[in-house]
Amino acid sequence: MKIQYPWKWMSYFIGLLLLFLLIQRMGQIFFKFSFLLSSLIGLSIIIPLAYLLVRSITRPISHLTQKATQWVSDHLATPNRIGPTDELQKLSRAFDEIEIQFRTKMDEISKERDSLRTILRGMSEGVLFVDEKGRILVANDALRQFLSLPPTVAKRTPLEIIRNAELEEAIQKVLREGKTISFELSLPSPLGKTFEVNVVGIVPSKDEMGAEGEGVRGAIAVFHDKTRLKELEKIRQDFVANVSHELRTPLTTIKGYVETLLEGALKEEVAFQFIQVIKRHTDRLTKIVEDLLTLSKIESKEFQLKREEISAARLMEEVIHLVKGEAERKNIRLSLSEVHPNLFLLGDPYYLEQILINLLDNAIKYTPEGGEIILSVKERPPDEVELSVKDNGIGIPEEDLPRIFERFYRVDKGRSQELGGTGLGLSIVKHLAHAHGGKVWAESQLGKGSTFYLTLPAYPK
Ligand code: ADP
Repeated sequence: MKIQYPWKWMSYFIGLLLLFLLIQRMGQIFFKFSFLLSSLIGLSIIIPLAYLLVRSITRPISHLTQKATQWVSDHLATPNRIGPTDELQKLSRAFDEIEIQFRTKMDEISKERDSLRTILRGMSEGVLFVDEKGRILVANDALRQFLSLPPTVAKRTPLEIIRNAELEEAIQKVLREGKTISFELSLPSPLGKTFEVNVVGIVPSKDEMGAEGEGVRGAIAVFHDKTRLKELEKIRQDFVANVSHELRTPLTTIKGYVETLLEGALKEEVAFQFIQVIKRHTDRLTKIVEDLLTLSKIESKEFQLKREEISAARLMEEVIHLVKGEAERKNIRLSLSEVHPNLFLLGDPYYLEQILINLLDNAIKYTPEGGEIILSVKERPPDEVELSVKDNGIGIPEEDLPRIFERFYRVDKGRSQELGGTGLGLSIVKHLAHAHGGKVWAESQLGKGSTFYLTLPAYPK
């Protein structure tokens, strides 16, 4: 924009000067006044006109100066440093002051904005800001991740983005009434998540506020992810139900036999058989409780392995020695193949033995008489050793394979119980392998046999 004021005022002053010269000339020519008199007459006409002209210039300036100095003292924190000089200087100082203060304020605002952005980015809770019309202003990184939000969400409504009527309703209610609302939000698959949501209205300071909910400037919804907590709760409930169920069966049997014995069978010949059944079920109860205690010990925070250097070949030979008797009773051949004599593991010998005994116990349990079990040890470069237990037993159906390491999961519950299984052996194996920093998995063919693999860290050379 081109400023025309200087030319405009210049032309007014030139006009006044010309008028003065004209009056002076006319006084001398027409009225024969002396030069001095005609000049005085000219000046007496021109001076009031010049005064009016100057006033029309200075009045808006002085008005502006007054406004600017007033604004500085009303809005800015620092004392007014504008001194009592002329109007234009005052105005210029007022603007300098505004500029300084404005920059300071801008710096403060941008610092606050950066801190807020950092807080939002660092929060593990999801945060959604909406304006007074319920349109999204900001969604932080956590919320974007939780809900897989599209990159641009600004100016859209939560209903469009999150597609949940309950959330939209809560936000609208908060915007209307200014009250805080908390509720549980369950989002169906594929997200399949549960949140505890708190929606709070952004309200003006107390003195600015009118009636209830009046002047709500927007709302903030905070999403706490409760999905994992819910899952854990479900696992805990299932676990308690499973344990109760597992304990009830042997207890009911024991109770039944004890009552029969008390009712008179104690004196009969069958008493011995009954007591043997009671003994078998008591052993089962003891085994379940022992396995449960082992599991809880491994899962506790205090659990620590006593790691040391272990010869893989020697470990295998020792466990073979421990289960040989059981295998021989079923006429099962037990052999060790592919053993590299110089392979050393880093692990706790007591728990590694427990892993292998559990795997071998299963191999013997689920392999019919006359079968074969082969153990092997292989190097897995760069820093792992792989142990395997292969049997040619009944095998595991493909659909059950991913679940056999779960607590109490059994392919054939009747058969497992008959063979003294608790359904906890492989779960213990998995936890112990993980505690060692290793992995365990199985391959199997129904009717042909199964192979269980275990990788463990090699002892550093
Ligand atoms: P269990 O005490 O029932 O043996 P585990 O946790 O040790 O419990 O094993 C879980 C289930 O996996 C078993 O019930 C069985 O169905 C199956 N399983 C484990 N090892 C073998 C194997 N070597 N051959 C066939 N099935 C097996």
